Amino acid sequence: MKYFILFGPPGAGKGTQATAMVEKYNLHHISTGALLRKEIAAGTELGLQAKALIEKGSLVPDEVVEGMIESEFKTVKGVDGFLLDGFPRTLPQAEALDAILAKTSEVVTATVSIMIPDEMIMERIKGRALKEGRADDASEDIINNRIATYHNQTEPLIEYYSKAERYYEIDGIGTIEEVRDRIFSIMDRF
Ligand code: AMP
Repeated sequence: MKYFILFGPPGAGKGTQATAMVEKYNLHHISTGALLRKEIAAGTELGLQAKALIEKGSLVPDEVVEGMIESEFKTVKGVDGFLLDGFPRTLPQAEALDAILAKTSEVVTATVSIMIPDEMIMERIKGRALKEGRADDASEDIINNRIATYHNQTEPLIEYYSKAERYYEIDGIGTIEEVRDRIFSIMDRF
């Protein structure tokens, strides 16, 4: 199985690019954010706990998302691999992912990182808010908290995957098709 991580700051276009990636490479898309939003919509206990954190722009506890990932790996069949979108987001999550994969003697295939500068994040998220109506896209304060969370907790993963020689960064500025082709040119190598 191939395990691709789709990495990048909020608003980089991960969700937009994921559809084409899963189709071309027969992957199962796991977006921890989308799974959490589903729990909130269903009104589950987990959803209730996650809601307050998500709406502040903070992360939910590592164990919550780690459990979601492992259960998807176990239940989804008939694909050539997985596309992890929005996970891992902290160093402990990256270590937990390595430990989950080690149980079946597997490793992360590649981390594909879509990079955009901070100045573009706010603009992109505000555009998305008009279309998708996500609660955590609604205010500048929340978006700023997500940007800070990204820099403090998620950015260290760049070094983690660079050291493991599993990190590939592409420029996220351009049309959807231009960015997609940059991503494909990396994924074609695996
Ligand atoms: P996303 O759709 O990936 O932007 O995620 C939306 C929100 O869900 C994030 O701001 C976090 O509050 C939460 N979330 C999603 N993935 C994770 C994760 N891997 N770890 C912790 N919180 C997460």
